[in-house]
Amino acid sequence: MPDTLPVFIEIICIAYLGLILGSFATAIAYREANGESWFSLKGSKSNAWSKCPQCGHRLGFVDLIPVVSWVLSRGKCRHCSKPIPVRYPVIEIMSMIGCLGLYATYDFEFYLVPLLFLVPFLVALFWVDVDLMILPDRLVAICGGIAAFFVLYVFFTTDDTRVLIDSLLGMVAYPAVFGAAAFIMTKILKKSALGMGDIKFLAPAGLLAGMDILSVYLILAGILGVLTAIPIRKYKDSVIFPFGPSLILSLYIIMVCKGFYLQ
Ligand SMILES: [Zn+2]
Repeated sequence: MPDTLPVFIEIICIAYLGLILGSFATAIAYREANGESWFSLKGSKSNAWSKCPQCGHRLGFVDLIPVVSWVLSRGKCRHCSKPIPVRYPVIEIMSMIGCLGLYATYDFEFYLVPLLFLVPFLVALFWVDVDLMILPDRLVAICGGIAAFFVLYVFFTTDDTRVLIDSLLGMVAYPAVFGAAAFIMTKILKKSALGMGDIKFLAPAGLLAGMDILSVYLILAGILGVLTAIPIRKYKDSVIFPFGPSLILSLYIIMVCKGFYLQ
């Protein structure tokens, strides 16, 4: 992209886009967790709009400004005064940091575009897994579509067949290696360590990260698995915790680092 925008304007644009994508992540995580349609246009008209999770009141423009609405209403719904969980602005800030992190290494290059749109889906998957211990197929499939677009774009711009082979091998190897490890652990520990959703998510993760970095991904996911277990257990007040968040964070970290090579 032409270098016409001053850096601070780029940063503000990316941060704002991150917050908006964070609102979108909140909405899809909520609807996915409650089995609701994303863009329901049939049945009750109010389904097509965002609503208060407590009273179901349809939210207006003032209620939907990321982070600002939550701070101004002091974390309460303007209609029913019931508290709106702090995780709503947390998800928006998480998404903003996610977008800024990618911008930091990819700069304002076109590579950045598909990855920015991946952020809300990764954030939504993260929270649905924390809440329900599932990685919904629909969200994983969208990540797969974005991953395929990204890999093809890199392939066509670099004209390097190795990029394509590395990605395709990753797409097969990641689920296979983690699946085999989960199978062995299940035999030894007599309990399932990875769910089917985790294994499915590893296909787009492998496609994006690539075969070359499989061992790095394994180590990173292991370390983050231990690190995320403590806060997630505390948040859920349960000994059982999902492994998806560490798989998602590992992929994100690897994608940020990849930006250094792709510029
Ligand atoms: Zn309300």
